[in-house]
Amino acid sequence: MPKFKLEYIWLDGYTPVPNLRGKTQIKEYDSFPSLEELPMWGFDGSSTQQAEGHSSDCLLKPVAIYPDSTRTNGALVMCEVLLPDGTPHPSNTRATIIDDENAWFGFEQEYFLVEDGRPLGFPKGGFPDPQGEYYTGVGYKNVGDVARQIVEEHLDICLDAGINHEGINAEVAKGQWEFQIFGKGSKKAADQIWIARYILLRLCESYGVDVDWHCKPLKGDWNGSGMHANFSTEYLREKGGEEYFLALMAAFEKNRDEHIAAYGPDNHMRLTGLHETQSIDQFSWGIADRGASIRVPHSFKNNDWKGYLEDRRPNSQGDPYAIASRILKTIAEVPTP
Ligand code: ADP
Ligand code: MN
Ligand code: MN
Ligand code: MN
Repeated sequence: MPKFKLEYIWLDGYTPVPNLRGKTQIKEYDSFPSLEELPMWGFDGSSTQQAEGHSSDCLLKPVAIYPDSTRTNGALVMCEVLLPDGTPHPSNTRATIIDDENAWFGFEQEYFLVEDGRPLGFPKGGFPDPQGEYYTGVGYKNVGDVARQIVEEHLDICLDAGINHEGINAEVAKGQWEFQIFGKGSKKAADQIWIARYILLRLCESYGVDVDWHCKPLKGDWNGSGMHANFSTEYLREKGGEEYFLALMAAFEKNRDEHIAAYGPDNHMRLTGLHETQSIDQFSWGIADRGASIRVPHSFKNNDWKGYLEDRRPNSQGDPYAIASRILKTIAEVPTP
């Protein structure tokens, strides 16, 4: 029987942004194992800010498995962290979120690739040309030499894993990139974002490159990084209508602070009203408006207010479990006509 390398991956207890952690367990299976065949495992929570030293065991409960094409017989196993009694650890944001497989999410994850503390392509001690030509750009002066190789390898590893990437692009700032992942169900989409983040971090190790997920790594006239959350429910896709849409937007406005609280740390640095954002203390929606909190695609309005909407406020360090769950909470407050 082949021996499989199972990389158990979880989120640690650091705040406000958890780190990804992983360790490998070797197990024999006839063929690639299913989720049900994976055992629970454990780790030392006192080393991850998830337990005190005197009682440090935490449990790992596998919740999703993906092939890992970078290793012979490799698997990436997304896990939830449980307390020794089997209940969710306080750091486990996944366990208690609202989920609905008819709620679809498309996350646009932006990030910077950095080397020695500078975004790739930034000269030592200075700045490259102002942003303008970098977005979807091509050529050494726009994207440098190694970034695209990383981005392409990341895409291939993710596709091999069955991650539902919908696209990639070079972003507005130099050294900034984006990938988009679509999933039916909050947990499915959010698990895939975390695994794609893990794959990118691990891939970048061998390049001596780090990923900066912060939402505003560069001061001044440089775009920050978001994680726009595109969402649709069955009702929005099939019934919709202007009246329902306006009621939904009123609920989003009423819950503005709750949404901002779930949308990632330091967002005040990014949501300034500049660089394709709405100010953090305002709420607005607009048709095809990249300066709005919620952008309504032309296709939505032109289809009798049916389809998907884009919440542009979630940021690149946000927890996709919390983001998706907050959106569904607000939607649940609005009665359907
Ligand atoms: P932009 O950069 O113009 O904002 P992208 O193409 O990067 O747009 O991202 C659009 C996202 O919208 C994609 O990730 C896609 O998965 C998502 N999306 C498309 N249709 C739906 C839908 N019905 N429900 C949820 N998300 C959707
Ligand atoms: Mn995009
Ligand atoms: Mn973008
Ligand atoms: Mn977008």
